[in-house]
Amino acid sequence: MEIARRLEHFDNQLQPYNCSLIAVSKTKPSSLVLEAYDAGHRDFGENRVQDLEKKYEELPKDIRWHMIGHLQRNKVKYIAPFVHLIHGVDSEKLLNEIDKRGANVDRTINCLLQVHIAKEETKFGFDEDELFEFLDSERLNKLKNIEILGLMGIATNTDNKKLIKKEFAYLSSLLKKIETNYGFDNLNPSELSMGMSSDFEIALEEGSTMIRVGTAIFGARNY
Ligand SMILES: *Cc1c(COP(=O)(O)O)cnc(C)c1O
Repeated sequence: MEIARRLEHFDNQLQPYNCSLIAVSKTKPSSLVLEAYDAGHRDFGENRVQDLEKKYEELPKDIRWHMIGHLQRNKVKYIAPFVHLIHGVDSEKLLNEIDKRGANVDRTINCLLQVHIAKEETKFGFDEDELFEFLDSERLNKLKNIEILGLMGIATNTDNKKLIKKEFAYLSSLLKKIETNYGFDNLNPSELSMGMSSDFEIALEEGSTMIRVGTAIFGARNY
């Protein structure tokens, strides 16, 4: 019941915004996902392919599964048949592989391009130059089994709210630039996946359309 209460709280908080909640269930058992499902929630995020597959098998089939973590190319095939949205597309090679696997299962797979917006070196993603080089090249035209719905980013892990705000504002500005300047059949840049338990309020101010929240719904994780 605690989970239902937290989800309701988020629903209320998100009401004024055009933003949806991805409940990040990584490391949590399927029973807790089901608790959220029974409270009416349908969008869940996982960051490991194996866990995503397992939960897909175990849980109701109308759940929309979001792959939010770093995705290795050799694992795309396992989630291609059912994944709803891949948030962390961080290279053209990965995008090409998703397109190929989408074709194999006769699906168009929704993707977000992950942009590196944080100070940390370790976070994955395109940088601005790579992103626009890719779009300018029009190589996207060849990919018939993907649809790009927008951008995803992870802010620096810091208490510095100003820095986080700046990073989210930057991601938001890149999406606007794409909306204004590029037209491809498989590009519909309307989503901004940004904000987690610690920084979603800042992300909302900067125009997030999808927050990815784990801890604040399911509690702390034990690894
Ligand atoms: C784990 C994770 C989240 C959720 O983090 P919380 O701090 O638990 O809300 C969001 N996005 C990504 C990419 C994650 O890996």
